Amino acid sequence: MKSQQKYEQKFSLEFFPPRTEKGSEKLKTVVEELGTLNPEYMSVTYGAGGTTQERTLETVRYIQQNTNFDAAPHLTCIGASEESVTELLDTYEAMGIKRIVALRGDLPSGMMDPGEFKYASDLIRFIKDTRGDTFKLEVAAYPETHPQARNCEVGIKWFKHKVDQGADSAITQYFFNVDSYLYFIDNCERHNIDIPIVPGIMPITNYENLIRFSEGCGAEVPRWLKCRLESFEDDLASLQDFGKEVVMDLSQRLLDAGAPGVHFYSMNSTEPTLEIVKSLSFK
Ligand code: FAD
Repeated sequence: MKSQQKYEQKFSLEFFPPRTEKGSEKLKTVVEELGTLNPEYMSVTYGAGGTTQERTLETVRYIQQNTNFDAAPHLTCIGASEESVTELLDTYEAMGIKRIVALRGDLPSGMMDPGEFKYASDLIRFIKDTRGDTFKLEVAAYPETHPQARNCEVGIKWFKHKVDQGADSAITQYFFNVDSYLYFIDNCERHNIDIPIVPGIMPITNYENLIRFSEGCGAEVPRWLKCRLESFEDDLASLQDFGKEVVMDLSQRLLDAGAPGVHFYSMNSTEPTLEIVKSLSFK
C-alpha cells in the first residue's frame, strides 16, 4: 500500500444526470447538501454511445457555473468519433472544466459499431495528444477484475496501459471486500503503476437494486452481506441502518489502510452519503 499512502486523502462525489424536471430540482438540493462536505470534485456520469449527452452537459454546466465545486464529466468513447469527442472537449474546455473521467463504456444494446475508439486507452491518448495537460484524466480500475478481462493479470496489463497513455488517477468499481482492494494495489505496485487509485464506494439503500446493479457491472456482493440484507425483508429502515454501518466500516478501513481517499456513488441522494462521510476520519 506504500504507493497510495503518500497521497493526501481526498473525498469526491458522483452523480448521474437526472431524467426529469423533478429530478433536476432534487439534484440541486443534494449538490448543496453534500457540498457541505467540501468534496474535491463532483463527477457526472455519461451514457455510453452518447445516450445522456445533453443531460450530462446540463448537469456539468449547473455544477460548474452555480457552485464552488469543480465538475468532472465522465466521457465514454465507445461508439464515438474523433469529431464528436473533439466537439465535447471544446465545450468542456470553454466551460473551464479541469478534470475528465475517461472511459470506454459499454455499447448500448442494438448498437454494433464501436466507432473510432475501442478502449479507454485510445480516448486517453487522443485527449493527451490533442489537449496536452488541459484536463486531469481519471480512469476506471477494477479490484475484482473487469468482467471482460480473461484474468486479473490481463486486466492489470490493460490498466497499466491506460496509465502509460496518460491517466493521472483512478477510481475503482465499488466492492465490499477490503482485501480485493489491498491485493489489487499490491499487484499494481508489482507492475510499477504509480497513480492514486481511489476506492469507489456504493452506499447500500435497497437490496434488489444493489443485486441487480452488481450483477450488471460485475461487483461482488459477498454471501454474508447478501444473507444479512435479505433477512430484513420489508424492513427498509433496518436494512438501511445496517447498510450504513457496513459502508462506514468499509470506508474507514480503506482510509486506515492508506487509500488516497474515497469516491462516493451518491445515487443523487444526500443520505446515506452525508452521514457516512461525516463519520469518517481522514489522515
Ligand atoms: P477499458 O479500460 O477500455 O477496459 C475495458 C475492457 O477491455 C477490460 O476488460 C480491459 O481489460 C480490456 N482492454 C482494455 N484495453 C485493451 C486492449 N488494448 N486490448 C484488449 N483488451 C483491452 N459507464 C458508462 O457508460 N458511463 C459512465 O459514466 C461510467 N462511469 C464509470 C465510472 C467508474 C469509476 C467506473 C469504475 C465505471 C464506470 N462506467 C461507466 C462503466 C464502464 O464504462 C464499464 O465498466 C466498461 O465496461 C469499461 O470501461 P473502461 O473505461 O474501464 O474500459
